[in-house]
Amino acid sequence: SIVVTGATGHLGRHVVAQLLEKVPAERITAVVRDAAKGADLAARGVRLAVADYNAPETLDGLFAAGDKVLLISGSEVDKDRVAQHTAVIDAAKAAGVALLAYTSAPGTLTAALAADHRATEKVLLASGLPYTLLRNGWYHENYTEHLAPVLEHGAVVQAAGDGRVSSAARADYAAAAVAVLTGEGHENATYELGGDEAWSFAEYAAELSRQTGREIVYRQVSVADLTGILTGAGLPAPVAAILAGVDASIAEGELVVPSGDLSRLIGRPTTPLAEAVTAALKN
Ligand code: NDP
Repeated sequence: SIVVTGATGHLGRHVVAQLLEKVPAERITAVVRDAAKGADLAARGVRLAVADYNAPETLDGLFAAGDKVLLISGSEVDKDRVAQHTAVIDAAKAAGVALLAYTSAPGTLTAALAADHRATEKVLLASGLPYTLLRNGWYHENYTEHLAPVLEHGAVVQAAGDGRVSSAARADYAAAAVAVLTGEGHENATYELGGDEAWSFAEYAAELSRQTGREIVYRQVSVADLTGILTGAGLPAPVAAILAGVDASIAEGELVVPSGDLSRLIGRPTTPLAEAVTAALKN
């Protein structure tokens, strides 16, 4: 089977939908925390398995020898994600899966949130399992799904200086995962995945201006100011610090991914940022 964890998340849903175009539904297992949330996937013939990264006993029997597994990294930043991912890797190792692909972060990224990914990569390599590191760059949607305050204030407020971001659509990263899960020769490969075009926040603001017909500027602030703005908007302080820390990394060029791995794996150019903006403005 092809087993996808985090299957009811944003990325996981793209992966399952794209897998369904390539392989019979009965070959796909969607690992979910909440069966009700996965009911639509079950209705399409996908096998559902209920498990929680926090409860290793729920991972027993999840995998079988020969499975190809996509471990989608967890989203609970207040939990020990390395322990969560380790529990999944241990279960996959015990079962003797053929491949474990993990959604990691760019190798250049030093921001705090990359630490869990680096540590998980180490655990995976030490496991001796055949692995694929899908070092996903940033999603367009990290920005385009949060347009309300930008439109309200006529400003993209970031602390990234003139730094550029090689973002791509979630669907592009999903396509790369599907290529690895359904293709051959990806064992023990590390892919640095990012969009074909790196853009700056000034360019992003200009694109928003073009598509809305309104003036939207890039307001550069300091990392400390951005942290304050985010906590003022209601984010918990640790989350605000993590997000602002990403901007510091962007300013240093750490989210520019020049490898071309993503478009090579998916066999087409990545989705332009402008397309994600258009899609977001329609909602
Ligand atoms: P989502 O938050 O939409 O999805 C996270 C998925 O992980 C969900 O399916 C969620 O289950 C599942 N999950 C979380 N905790 C557990 C747990 N304890 N046990 C089992 N499943 C769990 O994120 P995306 O799909 O957008 O992104 C995938 C991952 O990529 C994120 O989890 C994060 O690690 C990382 N990420 C990458 C970004 C980037 O720009 N590259 C940006 C943001 C995150 P449920 O559906 O039940 O909630």
